[in-house]
Amino acid sequence: METITLTKLDPNFKFELAEKPGAANIRKCYACGTCTAGCPVFHVEHTYNPRKLIHKILLGMREQVLSSKVIWLCLRCYTCTANCPHDVDFSNIMMSLREMAIEEGYAPPEILEQIDFLTTAANDLRKDCINLFLHEGDITKEQIRENFEKMLQQIEKPGF
Ligand code: SF4
Ligand code: SF4
Repeated sequence: METITLTKLDPNFKFELAEKPGAANIRKCYACGTCTAGCPVFHVEHTYNPRKLIHKILLGMREQVLSSKVIWLCLRCYTCTANCPHDVDFSNIMMSLREMAIEEGYAPPEILEQIDFLTTAANDLRKDCINLFLHEGDITKEQIRENFEKMLQQIEKPGF
């Protein structure tokens, strides 16, 4: 269980975030958990939980949220945004959280480019694996291994 240090809470965090594009409805969240239930990242990594992240934002846990490594796991797929019964646009809120994390020195600016690269490379690999499975096109297991190796070689540790 995570410890909450009352003196470290920032009551302005949610108001500041609500001023960012698409984030105005964050305070309407009533913790129903629909976002988490449909989140593809939560299904493979339970430490990533949009409902809990929003709860921490509303509590004012600024440092814990912005310094958290899990905010870089979101795919920004908009599933949570589409499913939320209270129109909380968490996909765009996540972009604002990432920008704030960089602005406040919790992550280096180049991480955004790195995440975009990994997302595109992972989608390419997925497409190739499905084509292999379906016997579509000329892709071979050897080519997929080579592409995967190339992707690994291009991962630079962001240094935080
Ligand atoms: S689906 Fe919407 S209201 Fe429900 S927990 Fe997620 S953000 Fe909050
Ligand atoms: S945008 Fe992020 S939090 Fe929302 S469903 Fe997709 S991966 Fe999960």
